[in-house]
Amino acid sequence: LMHLTKKLIEIRSMLLSIDQNDALKLPSIVVIGSQSSGKSSVLEAIVGHQFLPKGDNMVTRRPIELTLIHTPAKDGKVPGEYGEFPGLGLGKLTDFSDIQRVLVDLNLSVPSTEAVSTDPIDLRIYSPNIPDLTLIDLPGYVQISSLDQPETLKEKIAALCDKYIREPNIILAVCAADVDLANSPALRASRKVDPLGLRTIGVITKMDLVPAEQGAGILSGNRYPLHLGYVGVVAKSNGKQAKKESTALLAQRSENDYFGAHKDVFGAQSSLMVGTDTLRRRLMEVLESSMASSLHGITNAVQMELEEATYQFKVQYNDRRITAESYVAETMDSLKARFKEYTQQFRRPIIRAKLKNMLEDKVMDVLEQLYWLDKRAPELGVLAGDPKVKPEDVEPYWRHKLEAAASLLTKSGVGRDSTLLVADGLRALIDSIAAGEPFNFHPRAAERLTEFSHMILRDRIGVTSDQVENCIKPYKYDVEVEPREWEAGREKAVELFEKEVGMCELKLREIKSKVGGGRRLNGLIGYVKSLEEQQKAQALKRAEGTDNGQEVAEDKPLESYRYPPAQLVDARYAMMYSDRLSILKLRIMALKSKRCRAGPQSEVFCPEAFLNVVADKLAYTSSMFINIELLDQFFYQFPREIDSRLLYDLDRKEIVEFARENPIVRRHLDLQDRKDKLEEVMKQLNSLSTLRADPQPAPRRH
Ligand code: GDP
Repeated sequence: LMHLTKKLIEIRSMLLSIDQNDALKLPSIVVIGSQSSGKSSVLEAIVGHQFLPKGDNMVTRRPIELTLIHTPAKDGKVPGEYGEFPGLGLGKLTDFSDIQRVLVDLNLSVPSTEAVSTDPIDLRIYSPNIPDLTLIDLPGYVQISSLDQPETLKEKIAALCDKYIREPNIILAVCAADVDLANSPALRASRKVDPLGLRTIGVITKMDLVPAEQGAGILSGNRYPLHLGYVGVVAKSNGKQAKKESTALLAQRSENDYFGAHKDVFGAQSSLMVGTDTLRRRLMEVLESSMASSLHGITNAVQMELEEATYQFKVQYNDRRITAESYVAETMDSLKARFKEYTQQFRRPIIRAKLKNMLEDKVMDVLEQLYWLDKRAPELGVLAGDPKVKPEDVEPYWRHKLEAAASLLTKSGVGRDSTLLVADGLRALIDSIAAGEPFNFHPRAAERLTEFSHMILRDRIGVTSDQVENCIKPYKYDVEVEPREWEAGREKAVELFEKEVGMCELKLREIKSKVGGGRRLNGLIGYVKSLEEQQKAQALKRAEGTDNGQEVAEDKPLESYRYPPAQLVDARYAMMYSDRLSILKLRIMALKSKRCRAGPQSEVFCPEAFLNVVADKLAYTSSMFINIELLDQFFYQFPREIDSRLLYDLDRKEIVEFARENPIVRRHLDLQDRKDKLEEVMKQLNSLSTLRADPQPAPRRH
């Protein structure tokens, strides 16, 4: 039957890890008693070591789930004694004063404002000298609240104890012999939940402090009968100065001495239970029979829970098993796959087209700056239309313009702009991946992802833009244009201009309807023009006045209240658009002229076609080097960084944490884990049924 308790203790801790549901609990012995009743001394006597926190200041602030595991001698070898705190990762503690220190630290980690915590400390002790037992040590009942303890402390401790003394637990009510049992808070609490004392054992400590007859009287239990009876002990632990090894022996000896000296009293009534050894055996018997009688109920409860978990697992996940590792690996794989898919957006023709777009905008800016705003622009159209004018006859003015335009374009920082354009695209891609599923569940991983991607980009941007700038350098001096390229450039220019025409017309229509029709707009424009005339005239007069040394007349304030100022602004825009429209139309005519179609020799007449060819060449060269220096590098490095910075960086604990950040995965893992544990418990319970004898009531005596 010994085997049964050991097994059930194992099963009990497995059940505790499944959940805190009362239905799934196997009994444990709960130790309660008021402060200084000798609770710690009794526990230490049972274990045979001093390991509990001591001190006047209340030191037990958290329940201690104390599991004692008997380690039998093997092949004549006696195994060593040690303690373990599962979950703390401290390993085996063979020195019991280390255990004591850890317990003190764990207790002190409860803020003094809270005083007690319901979060239990899990401590296991392995020794050949202890029985298999589970004991829960609770903070001692406070009799009088002292000044430095919160008002509610008393209630808090009582509530904590109430929670633990519920069924099916066995209550170990510790009372000191020198205090009237009527005043024992432990007995009072136990009587409330177990009036007949069917699951309460009384322990009377400090037997040496009262006359033997009086002690025997208490143990007989006549005044406060308990079905499981009282055990009397002398468990005085001799304080800190006692040598560790000898403590247990010393205590044991003083107890033996005491009861030996009073054999006449305690031996006379054979029903009296005295001594720590007796207590140990009594606890084993009671726990064992209580466990045995819980077995049937717990087996049924576990069976039901298991069926429910199995059903849910089937329904919700179709029995699909996952692990934290598999989730992490899948996440990384799908990240890489998704990234690869997205990289299609960065294939060379697409990049080239993007860069071309950017450069076309630059071409338009250059044209506006150098040609459209030039009052002589129409002349160029006239020249283009005259077949007698040879390119070499054209004024140097126009040739300089063309050179200036080409150099504005090639020296506009194409290397930097094109590199940044592509890098921004990559950054936006990564940011969108990091913001999407499943990285929305993994903020830290998402942060790392963007961090290292941006870092790769930062590293490459400088090199790439220098390289691109270097490679387009020749175009800054000379651009050779093939007839085929010319024709493509010319067509492109026509296309762009026609688009621009469309846009200007749209804007004009918008302004027209905004100010209230074409007539109104014409009126506005006429008015703005007259204002401009007036301004010019005044400026002229002022200039003459100063020349003649005459007094300058004050400017007459211009009459501007006829129209609302906002509409005057609209009118100015309309004028700008229609000016642009007329020049664009002239230029389209020129671009479509025979002269322009003739080929690259007409470049001076058709700067638009020429600049488009330059833009195309710049886009081609830039995209090539961006591809080599930025994209290839990034695409190579990115998946590797995923592995080294997101995957291999994680230890087992972090992998689990990562997986559990995703609530969908967390629920899946939890249910799977619960089902596995229940299955394991069920298996163990079933294997016990062969061992199980019919539960017998615990005998009153051994
Ligand atoms: P706790 O506060 O209930 O844990 O009580 P302790 O175990 O710390 O004991 C309180 C005091 O009573 C300590 O000074 C112990 O040495 C003393 N004590 C405990 N058991 C006995 C005993 O059997 N006989 C005597 N004389 N003193 C004891």
